[in-house]
Amino acid sequence: MRSPRTPKTIKSQKMMTISDRFEEIIKRRDEAAIRSGRKPEDVKLVAVTKTHTADEINQAIDAGATDIGENRVQELLEKYESVKPVNWHLIGHLQTNKVKNVIGKVVMIHSVDSLKLAREIDKRSEAAGITTDILIEINSAMEETKSGIDAKDLKELTEQIVSECGHVRIRGLMCIPPIAAEPEDSRPYFKEAAELFEEMKSWDYPSDRFTPDELSMGMSGDFEVAIEEGATIIRVGSSIFGPRNYR
Ligand SMILES: *Cc1c(COP(=O)(O)O)cnc(C)c1O
Repeated sequence: MRSPRTPKTIKSQKMMTISDRFEEIIKRRDEAAIRSGRKPEDVKLVAVTKTHTADEINQAIDAGATDIGENRVQELLEKYESVKPVNWHLIGHLQTNKVKNVIGKVVMIHSVDSLKLAREIDKRSEAAGITTDILIEINSAMEETKSGIDAKDLKELTEQIVSECGHVRIRGLMCIPPIAAEPEDSRPYFKEAAELFEEMKSWDYPSDRFTPDELSMGMSGDFEVAIEEGATIIRVGSSIFGPRNYR
């Protein structure tokens, strides 16, 4: 007999498929957008698939996922060939020596936090005859352990990338707030990123190098708050694919 203490919600969560959970997140995305006076289609859902298999990713694609996020190059490459055609996003810290492996495979690199990295993306994109879309990662929490630049350095880095990197287009900002106990705890960080993003939109650079139209923020625990604060891209993993078992 089932223990009477087994919480019902957990049981039903377990029986939900990736497809069910993907649809659930889409519904919550739509509701959060409408609640904030925005259009659901203006908030792109990137399904974050780190630690999950190509088969699981394909299930999400069958359910309607158009955009997939991986945070490690090695993992992205391992799955790339086995996953149906989809837009890949690189969302984690990127080492310069790995750039050459992802150029042409990803539609966007969310985690650019140095001129050195932007130059390498530029060099490899030029060699491939393409322009690569990037976001600049803001370290909103000012934590030493995390990647991302200080907000005060955004203007200078943007200027440098725009003037030096002809095969890179800056599309906006990405931020990862500190791990929060409550979704609301992330709101101040999202607000700060949104303000910076607004400021960025007032800067005038050639549009083939600078088109600030994307703000990537919000994960499983706080994506609705992020949408309320203006996210145009949310990155949701565990709410779709379940908990991660790191290898
Ligand atoms: C893992 C990851 C996510 C998704 O996190 P969940 O809490 O599982 O939704 C989003 N962004 C980045 C950069 C990640 O590494």
